[in-house]
Amino acid sequence: MPGATFEQRAAFLETHGNGGFRYAREVMTAMRGDERTTVTCNARADSAWLLELREIYRGRAQHLLTRGEEYELLAIEVSMLAAALEKAPVQPVRLWILSQPDGVSYNIFELVESRAIAGVVQTEDERIAQRRFFDSLGPEQPDTHCKRADCERGTIEHSVFCRAHHFESIKGMPYLGER
Ligand SMILES: [Zn+2]
Repeated sequence: MPGATFEQRAAFLETHGNGGFRYAREVMTAMRGDERTTVTCNARADSAWLLELREIYRGRAQHLLTRGEEYELLAIEVSMLAAALEKAPVQPVRLWILSQPDGVSYNIFELVESRAIAGVVQTEDERIAQRRFFDSLGPEQPDTHCKRADCERGTIEHSVFCRAHHFESIKGMPYLGER
């Protein structure tokens, strides 16, 4: 996806500069040219895509609602976006993606003919969610040993594993972050 040009950003600011939507401040800061944030604009802007997006976000909203507390805020945002896409008259829709260096990014859905923002969802980098879960497991006890062969680490409370191996046993994938 190409980076948004200066002209594209200027047009966005002229139309939506007054804000009035979720994360408006973050979006406007990025659009005004925050160097650490990349802004891309999906070249596709047609009506058929709105119909596809309705389908996609209806499904995502339902899925997120089953995923528990960690995803609660995202589930609410995605549900609101799904509802807004359902309600919008059929028209070209444009997707903007703002990516911050900390891994947080925003997807912005612009209704081209309505000259309005249907919604903004904060998408959280999966690594951040994983890190949060990892940190929530608490410290490893120094006088214990993880049950996994070849692992020298202590166990966390209420588990026979160290943090990384407990993570692996719960999530079904290895923990790749920093320990
Ligand atoms: Zn271990």
